[in-house]
Amino acid sequence: MKEKVLIVGAGLGALATALRLVTRGYEVEIVEKHHQAGGRLNQIKQDGFTFDTGPSFFSMSYEFDELFKDCGMENPLEMNELNPVYSVYFSNRKKPFLIYKDLEKLAKEFYDVEGDFVQKAKGYLAQAKALFHDTENVIVKRNYNNLLQYGTSLLRVPIKHSPLLFRTMWQELERHFDSEEVKIIFSLVAFFLGATPFDTPAVYSLLNYTELEHDGYWNIKGGMYKITETFVSLLEERGVKFHYNTEITSVITNGKEVNGFVDQNDHVWKADKYVCNADAAAFRGKMLGRKKFTEAKLDKMDWTLAPFTIYLGVKGKVENLHHHNYFLGDNFKSYADKIFKMSVNPEKPYYYVNVSSKSNAACAPEGCENLFILCPVPDLRYKPDWQDKEQLAETILKDMSERVGFDLIGNRVTQTILDPVDWQNMFNLYRGSGLGLAHGLNQVAAMRPKNKDEEFDNLYYVGASTTPGTGLPIVVISSKLVTERIEKDVPVI
Ligand SMILES: Cc1cc2nc3c(=O)[nH]c(=O)nc-3n(C[C@H](O)[C@H](O)[C@H](O)COP(=O)(O)OP(=O)(O)OC[C@H]3O[C@@H](n4cnc5c(N)ncnc54)[C@H](O)[C@@H]3O)c2cc1C
Repeated sequence: MKEKVLIVGAGLGALATALRLVTRGYEVEIVEKHHQAGGRLNQIKQDGFTFDTGPSFFSMSYEFDELFKDCGMENPLEMNELNPVYSVYFSNRKKPFLIYKDLEKLAKEFYDVEGDFVQKAKGYLAQAKALFHDTENVIVKRNYNNLLQYGTSLLRVPIKHSPLLFRTMWQELERHFDSEEVKIIFSLVAFFLGATPFDTPAVYSLLNYTELEHDGYWNIKGGMYKITETFVSLLEERGVKFHYNTEITSVITNGKEVNGFVDQNDHVWKADKYVCNADAAAFRGKMLGRKKFTEAKLDKMDWTLAPFTIYLGVKGKVENLHHHNYFLGDNFKSYADKIFKMSVNPEKPYYYVNVSSKSNAACAPEGCENLFILCPVPDLRYKPDWQDKEQLAETILKDMSERVGFDLIGNRVTQTILDPVDWQNMFNLYRGSGLGLAHGLNQVAAMRPKNKDEEFDNLYYVGASTTPGTGLPIVVISSKLVTERIEKDVPVI
């Protein structure tokens, strides 16, 4: 008889794991709290507009190829490489910087701020490239059963990279570049880890290599939600059953194994093995009552920034916006230092804007545009009250209207705002943190909550807060690692 696996949650981590498991002959069933699949990779439809709720692009596209190859098929996702990769607007400069992978072209963007750019960037990226390839398989894409294994793996990383452990990303950029503009733009990748360059270790400069040289950034033809839809239809064709509006609220165990998950209606869901796609740290605390993950201890951990998102449909075309745009002020360091621990909204917020209707006309009615605006804000530990959300949204829209020369407020057709409380409630994101546990050196690899439970033999974890970490391709790697665990089971310490 086939072994049955129950997966809690239908985020990308769950969907990718389910596909690997059905391919290997397991029977898979999925229960999901939200009314549709995708988790953070979700979709909102309103008034003729379609919005992707969270991710708007991704790096390491080859991880999707690996996943589908592992499942015996060609990658069915139609992926587009972004070129330019993105654009960056500074408040004291009218024209945005367009960021290209081609360094000669990029040097032209920086001609008036950074001399010898190509040479400096080549030196910086060569170091980041070496680090990426020296750690990708040795440290990141692997399971650890204990700390000794991790220590042994670290010894295999060439010693020349060790200074990067002791500097921040910003300090490393200061060693290579002179202009504030280049340093700021190269440091934006820290925000993809949900932190600032001033508290992100320099080892993550390897992300500059992934964006500017290695594989670049990609999105999906037809919108990011096509990823979720593709997985759901492949899984349904293979007999996987999805149960939506079903939240797991407690766990039945015999002390050694999980015997069932109980939902909000007291229905008991049973299987041979269980995979949890809910946050791997918060679930251990809230559902399993683990002492290492009590609320007080979870609050002391480092969490990524919370999202404040606006989904805006406007009448007319916003010519001065590109596909992916960053809007920054002129006080980067003081903003990044202070803003994420404050309980009030910033007067001049920094934000990111994606306009998917630029390349996918079906996302907006004719002659209209759909804007996804993401402003990283403090998580609910620092700012629990979001009654002022409309005010922050209007501040952002006024600022952007001036900077792009288009009246977004006057031409507004539809709008939804999601604040950190909404994000927390929709997907059980701890304190509304957008990307899950942060990636400081004390919270990665063997130090991150493991993908196999410490006490229950048949319970596993996949997703952003377990190994290796957050982001779409990384969560796809997480599905590979948990599948390996399920297949070759060994206890973890
Ligand atoms: C605003 C935003 C923008 C982002 N942008 C990008 C980007 O551009 N590129 C990128 O690569 N990454 C991006 N990310 C990160 C990326 O979305 C995540 O790393 C990834 O989607 C996490 O997938 P997951 O499978 O771990 O979890 P999730 O997507 O969180 O899925 C977990 C699922 O479990 C369900 N669940 C939780 N608890 C229970 C329960 N008790 N019972 C039943 N179901 C439960 C939730 O409802 C959810 O559907 C972004 C994230 C956010 C929030």
